Amino acid sequence: MCGVAGIFGIESAERYVAEILFAIQHRGQESCGLSVKMANGDIATYKQMGLVKHVFTSEVFDRFTGVNAIGHVRYPTAGSSDILNSQPHTVPLPDGSTLAFCANGDVVNYAEWREFLEKRKVAFTSNNDGELIARLIAYRMFAEGLAIEAAIESIQRDIEGAFSALLLYRDQLYAFRDPHGFRPFVMGHRTWQGVGEMPSQGTCFASETCAFGIIGAQFVREVKPGEIIRLEPNRPATTVAINGATPRHCIFELIYFSRPDTLTFGEFVYRVRKKIGATLAHYDHDIPSGDDLAVMAVPDSSNFVALGYAAEKEVPFEMGLIRNHYVGRTFISPYQKKRDEGVKQKFNPLPAFFEGKRVVLVDDSIVRGTTLRKIVRMIRGAGAKEIHVRIGSPRVIGPCFYGIDTPTREELIATRMSLQETCVYLSADSLKHIELDDLLRIVARPGDFCTACFSGDYLYVPPSFVKSNAPGC
Ligand code: AMP
Repeated sequence: MCGVAGIFGIESAERYVAEILFAIQHRGQESCGLSVKMANGDIATYKQMGLVKHVFTSEVFDRFTGVNAIGHVRYPTAGSSDILNSQPHTVPLPDGSTLAFCANGDVVNYAEWREFLEKRKVAFTSNNDGELIARLIAYRMFAEGLAIEAAIESIQRDIEGAFSALLLYRDQLYAFRDPHGFRPFVMGHRTWQGVGEMPSQGTCFASETCAFGIIGAQFVREVKPGEIIRLEPNRPATTVAINGATPRHCIFELIYFSRPDTLTFGEFVYRVRKKIGATLAHYDHDIPSGDDLAVMAVPDSSNFVALGYAAEKEVPFEMGLIRNHYVGRTFISPYQKKRDEGVKQKFNPLPAFFEGKRVVLVDDSIVRGTTLRKIVRMIRGAGAKEIHVRIGSPRVIGPCFYGIDTPTREELIATRMSLQETCVYLSADSLKHIELDDLLRIVARPGDFCTACFSGDYLYVPPSFVKSNAPGC
């Protein structure tokens, strides 16, 4: 999982891109980077491992400045923690210019197109699928003679998978999305008034709308599935083509990945989460209310689900677990021991809070089961007399090939244990997930969502049904 940011036609574009990336840091904490169209005409790129606030210093902004810029935050994936895989990727072109590219998503048929290009003597510097798309566009333009827009259309036709993408080339910025719109991608405007001048307007792009407020921009609309938008100086944003197919928006963005203050796929994320909680509460007529009943979240991803549950059941929402915000993502560590320790470092129970309590413990998802097993034990040790675990997603039965990092199928607890066995494994008194049909009833256009990780209904599957070797975005 990753996040993208783009600014067109605003002075100090690099600073605004960095602000957007800071707002969507939750989408990727491994590395970040930006590419800027400089005053001398060059497209310059700066990227580093680390967080936005550490990487983009004022010295960096002094060196890399312009009115058009794109940027990227990358999600940590096991074994690929490498600056070479970070984005944006740049490709020097035979005409002396440079193409800079970044995307959020995952290419499913990576191996096929990498082989295609390598057979034609195209050299790669990374294993990242963003580099593959950038090089394929450059190849189509300079070896096959396609115009840039036709080259982008060929990507939408040939590349299977997810990409919400930004490309800088000469004076232009292109924003484009895969035909199914797997990953979120939104466009905004920023208007400002200089002294004695007519108001000026610039365009911005981001993975999530929550990033627009911070830069004083207004959300305009989503980039449509399959859309290609061109920005060039002194012209309004132009839709070059819309090569859309049936939408397959990632439902997990609504459950877990997007920030609650984001509007994505036409849905307010916090509202969806509250309705998930209310739906879970309807499953629980057999849990009587009472002073000893506490409804609480595993903070922070399931806060709104727990709020929705508590409101529906008319029971107070409690904050029994305190989260240390300085602990990074434990989920991703390739080592179980490290994941276990990470959970302990991350969460701590309130003293004396749990004694004699019946607890409805709400989380957004169970993947391997690491987090909840530890937390249930922690709460039980703190004195809880009953623990009912409620999950805001159906059981995860398969990996994602479209941009969410999930472990292999074999590591998923739902492929190894029945619901009842999982409940015992967690040492919970009961365990319930929201049903997929009920989840889909919450969104306005259920047919527009990809539910492959819960249903097994994949659109594209890598040939061997293992995640391709390409470290995603
Ligand atoms: P696990 O401990 O393996 O069961 O993972 C479940 C926890 O990790 C949940 O509490 C989620 O908040 C979080 N989570 C689920 N999917 C992801 C993901 N793809 N990346 C990072 N965290 C995740």
